Amino acid sequence: MTSTSAGPVTHRRQSRPFVWEGGAVLAYKEADGTFRSVTRQVLTGAEHGQGTCLRYFEVGPGGYTTLERHEHTHVVIPIRGRGSALVVDRIVRLALHDVVFVPGWGWHQFRAADDELLGFLCAVRADRDRPVLPGGEDLAALRRDPRVAAFIRV
Ligand code: MN
Repeated sequence: MTSTSAGPVTHRRQSRPFVWEGGAVLAYKEADGTFRSVTRQVLTGAEHGQGTCLRYFEVGPGGYTTLERHEHTHVVIPIRGRGSALVVDRIVRLALHDVVFVPGWGWHQFRAADDELLGFLCAVRADRDRPVLPGGEDLAALRRDPRVAAFIRV
């Protein structure tokens, strides 16, 4: 018989602006050097049973996330600062509370403005594939569009 008792309550307070208690602020993928000035907080995880994880990323002024793609999708909602993104083949200016959907296998990279950070929520499947980085042919294809060529950082 299925238990109908409620699971544990999670209420993670914001202990200071854009920092939620009960978790670590991690330098994102610190070892691989494909990003600049990015931190990550995992707000909800697989243990919450939604099949998704919700993360908060913050990119410092002039910083950028890794240019990558993968089978899984992203839902991204900027909630702090200002920036822009490559999503597949488009450069998108990000305003607070916009919603950006990154489709499976779409190249993507998020950049903060030069003079202001960019903070965004990002939802992903809990069970997901690992990102793939661009090879030489991928970069050549991306750079055929001069706007994309000027935007990407690798
Ligand atoms: Mn990604």
